Parts: sequence; C-alpha cells; structure tokens
Amino acid sequence: MNKKKIKAIVDQNKQHKIALIGIPYDLNSSYMRGSAEAPPVIRQALFSDSSNLWTETGTDLGAETVLLDVGDLEFDEEGEPLQEIENSIAFLLDCKMLPISLGGDHTITYPIVKAFRRKYKKMSILLFDAHPDLYHEFQGNRYSHACTFARILESQLIDRLVQVGIRAMNGHQRAQAERFGVEVIEMRNWNEEIPLIFDSPVYISLDLDALDPSYAPGVSHREPGGLSVRQVISTLQTLKGQVVGADIVEFNPQNDPFKLTARVCAKLLKEIAALLVGR
Ligand code: MN
Ligand code: MN
Repeated sequence: MNKKKIKAIVDQNKQHKIALIGIPYDLNSSYMRGSAEAPPVIRQALFSDSSNLWTETGTDLGAETVLLDVGDLEFDEEGEPLQEIENSIAFLLDCKMLPISLGGDHTITYPIVKAFRRKYKKMSILLFDAHPDLYHEFQGNRYSHACTFARILESQLIDRLVQVGIRAMNGHQRAQAERFGVEVIEMRNWNEEIPLIFDSPVYISLDLDALDPSYAPGVSHREPGGLSVRQVISTLQTLKGQVVGADIVEFNPQNDPFKLTARVCAKLLKEIAALLVGR
C-alpha cells in the first residue's frame, strides 16, 4: 500500500475537508471485470474543462481546502487487499478527513465501512443500487460484490440500512432483508415524496447500476427500469442527516461507449461532496 505517499499528500493539506481516494479493485466482480479502471476516468471527467467544480447548491469544490485528491490506492503484492482498503480509509478518518472512495466493485464498501465503524458508534447507510447485495454467498465467494451488505450487517457495522433503486430482488435476498431488518424501497414502490431522514451519521454508497442504463450504460450489470440522474440528485438534495462519507462503485469504463457514465459519476460525486461540505 502506498501509505507513505498518501500520508505525505495529507500532511501537506491538513485543512482539506474531503479526501478523494481511488480504489482500483474489482477481483470480486461476479460477471464482468473492468470497474478497477474507473477511478482515473472519473477524475478526468470531474476535472475536465467541459464543466466546472461548482455544485448545484452553490459549493465550489475547486476552492482551497475543500477537496483533496490523494490518488489511487496501490496494493502490495503480498498484502491483503480488503485489509489495505480498511487501513487507508481509517488513516484518512484519523486525519479528520471525510473520504469519498471511487471503486472498484461493490466489495470495497465492506472494508471501508469497517473503518468508519471504528470512528462512529452509530451509523446508517443509504444505498443506491439495482441489487440488494444481500447474498449470504455468491458463486462460492462470501466476499463477492453481491454479498457486501450481508457481511456488513452480520458484522453489526451499522445500525440502519436504507436501500433505494432496488429492482432485482430474489427470494433468498428478500429473506435476508427481513432477517437483517433492511429498509428496502423497491423501485416499483419508489417516488420522490418518500422522506429520507437519518438521525445517525449517514454513509452513502452509490452503485452506478441504481441508475437506469439509458442514463448510465457503463456498468457491468445493466438493469432496466432504474432511477434517472435527476431523481438521484433530488434524493441527495432532499435527504436529511449528517453525511460523513461516500463511495461511487461499479462504474465500468469498458461498457461506457460515449463516456456518458463517466460524466454521470462526476456529476453525482459533486452533489455528494456538497453534502459532506455542508453538513
Ligand atoms: Mn452493488
Ligand atoms: Mn448493483
């Protein structure tokens, strides 16, 4: 892990509120690899001259001491990747920064949330996803990206999980959702009036396949019938709670012919960052 390099960047920029970190890891993807290539592509879209760094709600992410890009995590050959992810996020939290992680597949959320749990005694997650990711095991892999929230909940890392965008539920995962008390707002029941109010710190996990593939085709698991970009932004802008961190996962640049999804990632990253700054 390139901890020294990240530490040097953070040490010189301690006043920054948000740390942007790339986590290029997709070894637990069940169907198609490629999301490990996402972090530099999202960065390129975010810092592109085709737009600016102001959020819709009036925050300038380009201002001094707001957003610090610490680069991508580099994994040691002999290291344990999930442990390295947990350690790097724990380090950023120790430096009093609010991390936004760019995946990678959804497996990375498990070690990230482990690190958050060390800091926050009470914590909720708002998940945007087409899939509940609640399999006890998938294709023989307990750390599959399809199992992330089963691992998080059985380890009691969070107190509340709210899922939106869900439209690929099956019987096993429905039973798991009941077992763990997950608040699933399925896409078929979803509307913009449902209030999202959190009274403990909230971590936002954004799986890009929550969006309809017509807006965000660059994912490994395209599931029609999803959220529009505007619906995700409205949900972010109206949620009530103290947002303390986020990830953007499952963007697969190999499936993004017009580089449209990269722009969607950058746009949503900005609006999520606005929540972190404005808390
Ligand atoms: Mn997912
Ligand atoms: Mn998904």
